[in-house]
Amino acid sequence: MSTAAVALPAAPPLAIPEDPQAPFGVIALPDPTLLVTDAGIARAYAALCAHYHVAAAPEEREKAVRPIGAQLDKALALVLDRERWTLHDDHVALLGSEGDRYRTTPAFCEGPAWVSRGRKMTVCKGSLNARVGMCNHQLAVELLRLAQQLDHPLTPVFATDPAPTALVALPGWAIFALWGPITIAQRKGADAPESVELLMEESYLSLTGGGFATTTTCELSGAHTLIAIPVEGFQKLWEAIRPHAMETPTLTLAVEISDDTTGILKLQGGPFDHVVSVTGVVL
Ligand SMILES: [Zn+2]
Repeated sequence: MSTAAVALPAAPPLAIPEDPQAPFGVIALPDPTLLVTDAGIARAYAALCAHYHVAAAPEEREKAVRPIGAQLDKALALVLDRERWTLHDDHVALLGSEGDRYRTTPAFCEGPAWVSRGRKMTVCKGSLNARVGMCNHQLAVELLRLAQQLDHPLTPVFATDPAPTALVALPGWAIFALWGPITIAQRKGADAPESVELLMEESYLSLTGGGFATTTTCELSGAHTLIAIPVEGFQKLWEAIRPHAMETPTLTLAVEISDDTTGILKLQGGPFDHVVSVTGVVL
């Protein structure tokens, strides 16, 4: 079976200040410990378009805002390609459309070296003639930061060391829909497996056990991972999921695997805080 895409609440209203250098009044980097979801990116793009009075469709744009509209579109394309950016504590590493590398903060964008009047420069050329004080890369950084700010419901609910090997945030009903059919199939006499396999891929995850499989869409943070959950642990989690998951807006499944393939699976969020032992591999 397959569950529908994550249902998201409406974006919160934005207080928009007048300073064009800091469109939303916050000069900060995105948080490398938080997810950036496609839904958050869509909200952030809509918020920036609204701020600069840029229509989403290029042909509907007023002439005066076409340059910033083109910049926003390039920043959006960059952000939507997750191969092209990495969040760090003190900067965002970005790959330009030509494969050039940029090290970007809200205050400065450093790109490939070039020479001006005999002097070697590393300031991003785009930031020298940016329409709104930000080059495409800085706009991309602002898109990422805003995407996180506008996406509170899918923020991981824990921040522990070490960072999990793999992490997904899902609505409670999606977790219920993953676990339930496999548990029910077993109760109806399907071969009881020794373990249930959980495959975490970039855009979906699936559970397989006793000849049954369930799948849901998700956004994976971390590595593609395959784990085996011993059936006792799987049942223990189901005992918690069955009465409480449907009314819990967001749950996170986090896997931590050490080098020798032993690890843990954490189910957290709302009233949930469960840990079970698993074995697994990073794919
Ligand atoms: Zn730049």
